[in-house]
Amino acid sequence: MLRFAPSPTGDMHIGNLRVALFNYIVSKQRDEVLLVRIEDTDKERNIEGKDKEILDILGVFGIEYKELVYQSNNFRFHSMMALQLLHDKKAFNCFCKPEILEKKRDEAKNAKKAYRYDGACVELSAEETIDNPNPFVVRLRKPEKEIVIDDLIKGSITFSPDDIDSFIIMRQDKTPTYNFACAVDDMLGDISLVIRGEDHMSNTPKQVAIRDALGYEKKIQYAHLPIILNDEGKKMSKRDNASSVKWMFEEGFLPSAIANYLILIGNKTPKEIFTLDEAVEWFDINSISKAPARFDMTKLKFLNREHLKMLDAKELSRYVGFADEDIGKVAKIFLEEISTLKELREKISPIFAEKEVADEFFEAAQKIKEIIKNAPFFEEYDGFKSYIMEQTGLKGKNFFKPLRLLMTGAEHGPELSDLYPHLKNYMKEIVK
Ligand code: GLU
Repeated sequence: MLRFAPSPTGDMHIGNLRVALFNYIVSKQRDEVLLVRIEDTDKERNIEGKDKEILDILGVFGIEYKELVYQSNNFRFHSMMALQLLHDKKAFNCFCKPEILEKKRDEAKNAKKAYRYDGACVELSAEETIDNPNPFVVRLRKPEKEIVIDDLIKGSITFSPDDIDSFIIMRQDKTPTYNFACAVDDMLGDISLVIRGEDHMSNTPKQVAIRDALGYEKKIQYAHLPIILNDEGKKMSKRDNASSVKWMFEEGFLPSAIANYLILIGNKTPKEIFTLDEAVEWFDINSISKAPARFDMTKLKFLNREHLKMLDAKELSRYVGFADEDIGKVAKIFLEEISTLKELREKISPIFAEKEVADEFFEAAQKIKEIIKNAPFFEEYDGFKSYIMEQTGLKGKNFFKPLRLLMTGAEHGPELSDLYPHLKNYMKEIVK
């Protein structure tokens, strides 16, 4: 079983989406179930409705999953496992006051040393523990041996017991910490491979230590994906618009192009333009580069245009707000000039809008409008053009400039003869 484990604490980031795509692809390749686990244990940070938004985005990308769990529904298992660890003396109650710990942390910082828990409560006697009325947290005992993670992307990484330390697994309010809930749930879910962002790398030995302490023997594989950098070479953050999947949709990037892009960057792929289904055939998690991927808007735009070209006219017309094959064909012609749906809509909607004509051509445009309103239907552009020219007595720039403006709402653009076959049925509507 594989899992995608988003926290419902904000908008879906392209880094999360990349994690979801890779989990989906590998679950298909291995013929294993994909589980979505909403990690909603941090009540303060949860945002109402974000879980649904994330699930909707998965749906838009065609990322199908078989199971959906909310981590908070597993609280009773987290408590049970914590009790077992306490019973087995693999974990202990820690009564250290947060302000004292904070002070020790500051001291370590001032001495330029890494802070480590000083073990104050590791060996408290049963009486000292049971009779203590103060609030406490539960900590896992620092492991005795080092923990080695054989990461599919990063290779082998060794963590010393001090790197892992005696860390908190249950907070004072008896809710599990992220590491504890995650480690237990990966065990309960019988997860075989965890694919996630490399920002979780330092959590991994802790999660392995938890399962080791619980006596879980199955070895879970890990693949930590390098981060995505922005144009300036910094980690993409909320401040980078393109980090938000919602923003990408608003800008008019197709899900298929976004998926193509996120699978392509920092990877060796047999081709550049492909669909998610195709990627399932050849994707290899081992060939993801160790180095961070760099976000490249020009490349994304290029791919988006290629994916727009792959749509048939009907589909394309729906994306620009019509359900008409002819408008889809007009849109296809404009694909040479644009790379996003937003840009495409900016070309198509002026065709049907009221046109503003500069003074210079105002009179000519009035004449053309009048004639078109009463003109017979012309199958061919040439016949149409000759008729209007003849009836208005206009020619050259004085004819073509206002005609283009009336037909497209723009001064420049594709050949009118290319557009006319698809607009001929709407001419009386358009020319206004
Ligand atoms: N909930 C974590 C996050 O959204 C992911 C945890 C994981 O994949 O283990 O960053």
